[in-house]
Amino acid sequence: MKGKELTRQDIIDLLKLDDFTPIYEEADRIKCQQKGKEVLIRAIIEYSSYCQMRCQYCGINGENRKAIRYRMSKDEILKAAFGAIDAGYRTIVLQGGEDPVFMTGEILEDVICEIKAKDKDVAITLSAGELSDEVLEKLKKAGANRFLLRHETADRELFARIHPGKTLEERVDRLRAIKSLGYETGSGFMVGIPGQSLESLADDLLLIKELSCDMAGMGPYIAHPDTPLAGNPTGSVELTMRCVAIARLLLPNANLPVTTAIGVLDMDKRNSGFAKGANVVMRKVTPEKYKAAYQIYPAKPVKTDIKKERNELEEIIKSMDLIPV
Ligand code: SAH
Repeated sequence: MKGKELTRQDIIDLLKLDDFTPIYEEADRIKCQQKGKEVLIRAIIEYSSYCQMRCQYCGINGENRKAIRYRMSKDEILKAAFGAIDAGYRTIVLQGGEDPVFMTGEILEDVICEIKAKDKDVAITLSAGELSDEVLEKLKKAGANRFLLRHETADRELFARIHPGKTLEERVDRLRAIKSLGYETGSGFMVGIPGQSLESLADDLLLIKELSCDMAGMGPYIAHPDTPLAGNPTGSVELTMRCVAIARLLLPNANLPVTTAIGVLDMDKRNSGFAKGANVVMRKVTPEKYKAAYQIYPAKPVKTDIKKERNELEEIIKSMDLIPV
């Protein structure tokens, strides 16, 4: 298939392969050629667990009464950001639920300006949901560099089913607005959403290509017990990694994370996502008292020690003969 554009059918056939090894090898070859040995480490701050959306898979959706709600103050966000910068992080990702208090952009604007005032070369990535053109523009002017907004699934009907009151068209429209404002733009999707097919995963991959994404995050769906989709099986990590590898073939120069949902489980050298096309990893630097409340999917509570975790991760990456950045 070398040298030829992958069609929808090609992608479906690849996803079904008995032995995917040659594709992983090709993805690794392209990654090394385009990205060298660098692994980009990002710090993520989960600034609010309030959300007005009703995403049927997400543990902090607005209708989950059991979710613990918190909203970090500007000072708390800055403290976490500065702690991350001191520990060596060069990108801060600000992520939250669609909290009306944050959707106006004022708090985020101040936070962005203050981080940039401390270190103008630190990149700021927003993962703040569907913002209006005006707010996107304001935050870009304040200095935000990148924006992550996964399209979640390219299957129109499935999208509408798991996002009551929302449409795939609106989501794609926001992604195009983000791109046209000059943000480095990231989309992505979940793998293993109940009702998802291999055909629609091929469409997901073609959509990130069509959008010319600079970044794409793919992660397995993980059921949260207090959501309408509770009890469904977890998405396959292998299928997720196959999607990452194919994304590398489609978008050779993109930044592709080994997502938090895959975790460090498969971080031994040959099995690691970094040998299969991925070149980015994210670490939570959310203060401990809030971390446990930000449960988009169930996760064991872990202590926050920004420096120690960064150092440990750097050691793992170096042991793979890669360079942490
Ligand atoms: N409110 C922001 C941030 C969402 S959290 C937004 O909507 O963009 C970031 C990502 O976590 C989501 O885009 C979704 O793909 C993923 N996610 C949410 N719930 C999940 C679950 N139960 N399992 C796996 N991934 C999930």
